[in-house]
Amino acid sequence: MNLMLFGAPGAGKGTQAKYLIERYNIPQIATGDILRAAIVNKTAMGMEAKEYMDAGKLVPDSTIIGIIQDRLAQSDCKEGFILDGFPRTLAQAQALDFLMEKMGIKLDKVISLNVPDELIVGRISGRRVCVKCGASFHVEFNPEKVEGVCDYCDGELIVRKDDNAQTVKSRLEAYHAQTAPLLDFYSDKGILSTLDGTKDVAAVTSDMFALLA
Ligand code: ADP
Ligand code: AMP
Repeated sequence: MNLMLFGAPGAGKGTQAKYLIERYNIPQIATGDILRAAIVNKTAMGMEAKEYMDAGKLVPDSTIIGIIQDRLAQSDCKEGFILDGFPRTLAQAQALDFLMEKMGIKLDKVISLNVPDELIVGRISGRRVCVKCGASFHVEFNPEKVEGVCDYCDGELIVRKDDNAQTVKSRLEAYHAQTAPLLDFYSDKGILSTLDGTKDVAAVTSDMFALLA
């Protein structure tokens, strides 16, 4: 099962990915998480990406495509994977097609979580993420069981540096200008399904599982 979760920043991709991992036992590939890990490890790639991320801009395609090429080649992706936050540009989508064709695999479904911009700001400003596994929680809409502690791995929950009002604006602009046009790209391939991402977390999960059944 090769899946892609698509949507604006804060639409709920990472939140829903956790339920897909549990059900299908396939890894989540979140380019944002991989970049944040590179920043923590102070790699050259991390240092370069940080400037773009702090400004709410997209990291250059060449960096991202390199990350995906390495990640898809790892053995845990053999039974499938969940792409989260990738691709974000047409060049990335085309590179993904090329890579998957070379690997003799194809995308089964692109699940787009549709959430209007007005709701995104509230979601992102209340987001808390796990430093260890990247899981997302929300102070009001999706609180963790024990305050400040990840439900999945006991890691510490923090506020992401780029989850501030100014950066959200740039990230939404980048989404509409560079990423949203990919909806047509996947619709033309006949693999796009759109879900109402404004429902509560459990309702979106249940719609998603119904779609995959
Ligand atoms: P993305 O991975 O698309 O950037 P997240 O999964 O991190 O988004 O979700 C963004 C924020 O919104 C998080 O704080 C998360 O807990 C919250 N959230 C996710 N899904 C929902 C939902 N259906 N309703 C309300 N809040 C949600
Ligand atoms: P995310 O964790 O998906 O919200 O991504 C956080 C930030 O990482 C984005 O605002 C971008 O700066 C960068 N990023 C993550 N994935 C990509 C991608 N596929 N292409 C370009 N930049 C990305």
